[in-house]
Amino acid sequence: MKSYDVAVIGSGPGGYVAAIRCAQLGMKTAIIEKYATLGGTCLNVGCIPSKALLDSSHHYEDAVKHFEEHGIEIPGDVKVNLEKMIARKQAVVDQTTGGIDFLMKKNNIDVFHGLGTFKDKTTITVKGNDSTETEVVAKHTIIATGSKPSTLPFIDIDKERIITSTEALKLKEIPKHLIIIGGGVIGLELGQVYKRLGAEVTVVEYMDRIIPTMDAGLSKELNKVFKKAKFKMQVSHKVKSVERKGDEVIVKADNKKGEEVEFKGDYCLVSVGRSPYTDGLNAEAAGIRLDDIGRVEVNAHLQTSAENIYAIGDVVKGAMLAHKAEEEGVFVAETIAGQKPHIDYNLIPGVVYTWPEVASVGKTEEQLKEAGIDYKTGQFPMRALGRSRASMDLDGFVKILADKTTDEILGVHMIGARAADMIAEAVVAMEYRASAEDVSRMSHAHPTFTEAIKEAALAATDDRALHV
Ligand code: FAD
Ligand code: NAD
Repeated sequence: MKSYDVAVIGSGPGGYVAAIRCAQLGMKTAIIEKYATLGGTCLNVGCIPSKALLDSSHHYEDAVKHFEEHGIEIPGDVKVNLEKMIARKQAVVDQTTGGIDFLMKKNNIDVFHGLGTFKDKTTITVKGNDSTETEVVAKHTIIATGSKPSTLPFIDIDKERIITSTEALKLKEIPKHLIIIGGGVIGLELGQVYKRLGAEVTVVEYMDRIIPTMDAGLSKELNKVFKKAKFKMQVSHKVKSVERKGDEVIVKADNKKGEEVEFKGDYCLVSVGRSPYTDGLNAEAAGIRLDDIGRVEVNAHLQTSAENIYAIGDVVKGAMLAHKAEEEGVFVAETIAGQKPHIDYNLIPGVVYTWPEVASVGKTEEQLKEAGIDYKTGQFPMRALGRSRASMDLDGFVKILADKTTDEILGVHMIGARAADMIAEAVVAMEYRASAEDVSRMSHAHPTFTEAIKEAALAATDDRALHV
């Protein structure tokens, strides 16, 4: 039996960051992880590997389609070596998860590999893969057990041809025709990887637009770019069956008119969201309540129905994002230490790492309309920037929504090259409750993509963008 101030169950971005912050605050900390490597979904089968493949496939696409225009000639054909591409991705993952081992050691955090199961409010049994059992006793526990891919009741995920993101990150061949169910973040990011590598890609989306939770202007622009790249986008389609016949996968869906449509491919990626993961946790033994969709129920302090146990990240309500999980990890560690931390959930940015990248923070136009808030809009096209012309990244725009009376920025929505990095400026501005005029009066280096933010702010302030 080993005793700790804090035990963290799950080593994803929520769990490992919580453990580091607890250790920094002087608490004796343990982390329990059922997999052999640390880092959770994000580092092993999520954020990091998907971005590694997005980067590799982007290089390939540039080599095939754009190098020539830049005056770069490659003698002979440019070819994809998928095995090597996947191996590089895995090397990036291994290096990154290895980095978490280092951080645990550096912060004197004890790591237990095995399934963590509550015996009671203060005791967790860790069952190792070698059947050994260790009891960890902790004054406080942080549940950070994350999520797993969701599916539809009639789909049998065989992990060979009918797959989730986990398998899509390690395919042995490039699909001839990849059918993607769900036009959300995973579907579009991984869809773009395989489209660039030569697959035909059909996206079947239930709602009337892709990335339906983001500002409608972003969906429209991304849809335009994807259609130009010859993605087959099927929105307003309700999938009703997915069947495998040998190496073929047949997806049937009802379209907007209620007619049955059939799509035939060799792989089908099911990316219809993720579900909270609490299997094997035995939450009830500690008096922890789950909500009606299986998430660990928490109050405003992220405290569960057991007062010494907290929960964070994908396993609780809110956006399923690595940086949201990290913020919550720090929040809970500081709460346990007696501090009074704060998270503004409205200012957690959302990013889709397609190219062009899509990034948002704050309220969308749809949300402002629904809330009856009077707002003004400033929008600036990326193609009007010198930097965009230099790199030939002409698609997209920056849109700033500001309060009509006070000029306070209420939402920033952008699509374009490096939007994932540019959104940080909008987060800083909104954290300090900047007005559109504040941002419009700040110097932005020239030539940069960020000039579109200044120009959109000028457009929102007084309809006086300079370069359109
Ligand atoms: P997780 O990362 O899911 O970690 C939970 C950990 O707990 C796992 O390691 C699991 O093995 C362990 N565990 C579970 N139960 C137990 C138990 N009883 N005992 C011991 N261990 C247990 N988010 C972004 O912000 N940016 C991105 O670019 C991004 N890309 C993504 C791409 C893909 C393909 C996917 C699938 C997800 C992506 N996400 C991205 C989402 C991101 O991965 C999650 O939001 C994030 O990992 C959640 O962190 P977490 O700490 O809550 O849980
Ligand atoms: P998602 O919620 O982003 O998208 C799921 C999509 O599937 C939605 O557009 C939804 O309307 C659609 N859908 C649902 N049921 C359907 C049906 N029956 N038929 C057709 N379409 C249907 O979920 P995801 O793409 O699976 O990603 C899961 C989670 O992982 C997300 O919460 C996301 O935040 C996170 N993630 C984040 C990133 C990132 O930050 N860049 C990348 C990948 C994943």
